[in-house]
Amino acid sequence: MEEYFAIQWHITDYCDQRCKHCYIFSEGHPELITMSLEDMIFVVDEIIDFCNRLNRKPYIYLTGGDPILHPNFWDLLGCFHIKGIRFCIMGNPFHLTLENCKRMKELGCVKYQVSLDGLEKMHDSFRKPGSFKATLEAIKTIKESGMWVAVMSTVSKTNHQDIPELIDLVDELGVDVYAVGRYCPTSIEKAYDRDIHMTPMEYKQFMDRCYERYMKHKNSRVTYQLKDHLWALYLYEKGIFKPNFNGLGGKPGGGWLQHRQEPHHHPAYRYGLCVQKDGFPRRQCLSQKPI
Ligand code: SF4
Repeated sequence: MEEYFAIQWHITDYCDQRCKHCYIFSEGHPELITMSLEDMIFVVDEIIDFCNRLNRKPYIYLTGGDPILHPNFWDLLGCFHIKGIRFCIMGNPFHLTLENCKRMKELGCVKYQVSLDGLEKMHDSFRKPGSFKATLEAIKTIKESGMWVAVMSTVSKTNHQDIPELIDLVDELGVDVYAVGRYCPTSIEKAYDRDIHMTPMEYKQFMDRCYERYMKHKNSRVTYQLKDHLWALYLYEKGIFKPNFNGLGGKPGGGWLQHRQEPHHHPAYRYGLCVQKDGFPRRQCLSQKPI
């Protein structure tokens, strides 16, 4: 299996939504930044050079803001295509048509990720009215284009009750990947707000409920990505995950509840990097291996 280095790349702040939990918008009205085409081409070459030195192939997770709103979005995808770079897109549903989804696929986009933060009422209260329905429509369009579709939920004390039913919904929709990520506070005040954060025991009970649903759908086409590193502890307690620290040089990451074989999902990357709009890396982290 080819080994990849995952890079999450934010190319623009422009976005049609103003989500309550957004790290760009939730603390005020920042100046919106967008990378120039010249800088993006420079970063692509740097990524290739960096990955060559690591003897890994780059796997880019392109995001923003909404990356499709970048004025040179298609130029960048053309560049990935010419250079043979594997990539997926994490964006909004609003500007997706069958035509442009097919174009993304032709240029090599493997997967498009959208967000659902709960059922309709909850999701739209986080994002914007109509966003839930637009996302369900987009899921159909992405599937029809031949790209894989991933759904991600940001979970907090506010919306965790919706998630088990949402797991049933994504199963019914036949998405390819579903993942939950814990809400990350965007200010010191929010970091200590007990109305937003679950207690450890509440979160464990939430994981129980998710795990039950995952098991209920174990014959479905959905791959449930265990993004949160706490899944490693959860599955360890259940006797399912056996940590192997040899060679990892760190902690066990999350994993995947994979009920079927995927030809082009979860390349066995172990390292990841986040590139911001100024072109500088933000952090490096251990990432997942399948369990
Ligand atoms: S869609 Fe993403 S970038 Fe846009 S406001 Fe929501 S969290 Fe922020």
